Amino acid sequence: MLTNSRLAYHSHDHKRCIHAALTRAKTLCDAGHVRFTPIREAVLRTIWASHRPLGAYDIVDHMALDAASGKRILAPTVYRSIEFLLEQGLIHRIATLNAYIGCPFPGNHHSDFFLICRECGSAAECSADPLNIAIEQTAKRAHFKVESQMIEIAGLCPECQPDNQQGCEQ
Ligand SMILES: [Zn+2]
Ligand SMILES: [Zn+2]
Ligand SMILES: [Zn+2]
Repeated sequence: MLTNSRLAYHSHDHKRCIHAALTRAKTLCDAGHVRFTPIREAVLRTIWASHRPLGAYDIVDHMALDAASGKRILAPTVYRSIEFLLEQGLIHRIATLNAYIGCPFPGNHHSDFFLICRECGSAAECSADPLNIAIEQTAKRAHFKVESQMIEIAGLCPECQPDNQQGCEQ
């Protein structure tokens, strides 16, 4: 069972999450012989700004100016980078929010479900074998070929539940 719910819902040194994500991305791109260009890195860094999914417009907004060159970064450039990051499995698209979030465990094959807080917007990515097996078997019985699996669950994270200040089990 994979999950990043502890980090997604509780305060922590998020700089470490960003650093780890960028390091992983670089390693995976090197291993896959694809280029992790500065713009791709900047888009990934922007998406990893928090554990809340970010819409494409917000990403474009954040990226409006290239700090290094002072040049405007155009939306199509950003969209192409988003496509690249999706293809590489470095980010996921949350359909119900039409937004993107960094994957905490890229490079290891996983089928996701997301616990999305409707109050603060934080999304924790999880993957659990029993769930994946159930879906696989059900699809098989229906002779259905699964191509992608994204389950999005809405609710309240521990921080946002009014009567729970204890936090959740880790
Ligand atoms: Zn973090
Ligand atoms: Zn993932
Ligand atoms: Zn919340």
